[in-house]
Amino acid sequence: MCGIFGVQGHAQAAAVTHLGLYSLQHRGQESAGIVSVDPDRRAHSLRALGLVSDAFPPERVEHDLPGSVAIGHTRYSTAGSTSIENTQPLLIRFRGDPIGLAHNGNLVNATELRMELEDHGSIFSSTNDSEVLLHRLAASTSERPEDKLADALQGVEGAYCILVLIGDTLLAARDPRGWRPLVVGRLDGATVFTSETCALDIVGATYEREVEPGEIIAIGPDGVRRGCHQPARALKRCVFEHVYFARPDSKVFGGSVEQARRALGRRLALECPAPDAQLVFSVPDSSNAAALGYSEASGVPFEFALIRNHYVGRTFIQPTQAGRDAKVKVKYNAVREVLEGKSVVMIDDSIVRGTTTRGLVTMVRAAGAKAVHMRVSSAPITGPCYYGIDTPNREELIAANMTVDEIAHDLGVDTLGYLSLDGMLESVPGGPDGFCHACFSGDYPTPPPTDPDKLRFGCGC
Ligand code: AMP
Repeated sequence: MCGIFGVQGHAQAAAVTHLGLYSLQHRGQESAGIVSVDPDRRAHSLRALGLVSDAFPPERVEHDLPGSVAIGHTRYSTAGSTSIENTQPLLIRFRGDPIGLAHNGNLVNATELRMELEDHGSIFSSTNDSEVLLHRLAASTSERPEDKLADALQGVEGAYCILVLIGDTLLAARDPRGWRPLVVGRLDGATVFTSETCALDIVGATYEREVEPGEIIAIGPDGVRRGCHQPARALKRCVFEHVYFARPDSKVFGGSVEQARRALGRRLALECPAPDAQLVFSVPDSSNAAALGYSEASGVPFEFALIRNHYVGRTFIQPTQAGRDAKVKVKYNAVREVLEGKSVVMIDDSIVRGTTTRGLVTMVRAAGAKAVHMRVSSAPITGPCYYGIDTPNREELIAANMTVDEIAHDLGVDTLGYLSLDGMLESVPGGPDGFCHACFSGDYPTPPPTDPDKLRFGCGC
């Protein structure tokens, strides 16, 4: 998963992008980058591993990235290793013009596309799936930037929201099923594109609309052009954006994430009550709204029983199991004064491998909880995601290998309840139809990638 941001027609394009990326940090913490293009059509780029705050000091953004057009990216790898070569925006020079690209999503047929290009002599400099798009752009014989991009996207399968710079033209495109979110906003006459509306808020831009599935928008010095690179298909918006990934102060797919999570929590309370519970608490921060919804619908009071250390990132980002185990303890601590002697409901948005729940249950019991009822505001995750969420293979997914009772026993909880698939889809704004729920239901909208290994193109250059 990743966050993307782009602006065209603003005197401080790179500074605006830099600010926007701070609000997209939750979508990717491995690396960050900005590419700007100056009035002489020269590209400037800053890319680094790490967080936005570490990657580029503000004074460097101001001095090193001139121009009124810029794109930026925060990366959380789902294809390719954590290495500087894979940091986006990718940037190449072709026939005198710079081409920059920032991608959110995952291409299902990247292996076939890459092999085909390599057979024709393409040389790749990264090991991610996105670089194939640059090679296909360069191969297009069309004149207008938007036609080049439309050519490049023909035959590309999977999830993509992309921002592309060709010279001083900024292009935005979304895949025909609308898997990932992408919105348009306005800032002092400039156009802004970004993954989530919270990034519009931070820069002071106003929300205009979503980029439509299959749509392509080109904005250059000669104006705005809109078109369709492929006809829209049956919508497959990622339901996990509402469940976990997006920020609650964002609107994604036109709906409030906060309201979605509240509704998920309310429905969970109806489907999976915990009659003897004295309090409900969240695994902060991603399940806060769901826990409030659960409390509202059940009448069980909400309390802060876990404190999260805000200086450590999302648990999953740790590449090894040992790292993930240790990080649960670094990330959370229990409040004994709240938990001692109580029968409690612990709400989390999802259980993937079980690492977080296992660690937290031990912690909550050690702080004196008498009974622990675990409630999950999504359905059991039983399959990998091929469309941009880093959900592991089936062997590692606890719900792919155990029944609910076995999971409860394995995690050490007194009772365990998951939201039903229908309950989940009926709770999110715009549901129940038009969402991708493949990782919960096994109903994959495309054939799986021939080689789903994240490091299929090697582990770095
Ligand atoms: P696990 O510890 O493996 O069961 O993962 C579940 C925890 O990770 C939950 O607290 C979720 O909020 C969070 N989570 C779920 N999916 C992801 C993901 N793809 N990336 C990062 N964190 C996730």
